[in-house]
Amino acid sequence: MAKLYFNYSTMNAGKSAVLLQASHNYRENNMDTYLLTARVDDRAGKGRIASRIGISAEADVFSAGEDLFAKIKLRLSQGSVASIFVDEAQFLSPDQVWQLARVVDDLGVPVLCYGLRVDFQGNLFPGSATLLALADEMREVRTICHCGKKATMVIRQDDQGRAITTGDQVQIGGNETYVSLCRRHWREAVGDGSKA
Ligand SMILES: [Zn+2]
Repeated sequence: MAKLYFNYSTMNAGKSAVLLQASHNYRENNMDTYLLTARVDDRAGKGRIASRIGISAEADVFSAGEDLFAKIKLRLSQGSVASIFVDEAQFLSPDQVWQLARVVDDLGVPVLCYGLRVDFQGNLFPGSATLLALADEMREVRTICHCGKKATMVIRQDDQGRAITTGDQVQIGGNETYVSLCRRHWREAVGDGSKA
């Protein structure tokens, strides 16, 4: 029975490494996988999923507004795929998450999505909110705060290490960095969520 999975995490938890390992396990058993990542993410160049620990794999890219049901159906017509992996799933639109649900239900192929749950202001990404609503199974890829507690939040820092509390949800290619924190330390850095 195919399912829609959402593997969520905060920044720097190693979700791309988990994705690449899972895909590798299929391929090692002679089952093909189809990898997708968001076009907005150019950290590893176009069409590549890369992990900070040094492993990477080629991937197709999805754009905003693209019909992923049609894209995946076309890929399946070119050869069977055991599983579909979507990295940077927070950048999916709600419509695209519904298209992935149709891939699972109507085409019978499992779709495993990996993405961030909340942005640096503590708000759900729209793609992640829809995945939380629709996924058959959810798993947390865990990392820890500097205090040792589980990190569930992320802050955006400027080059002086100060927390940035305003700006676009998606910012690519700037000088800011992201740090994952537990909620208590996020609140110390940013203030309470209602102000952010
Ligand atoms: Zn902490």
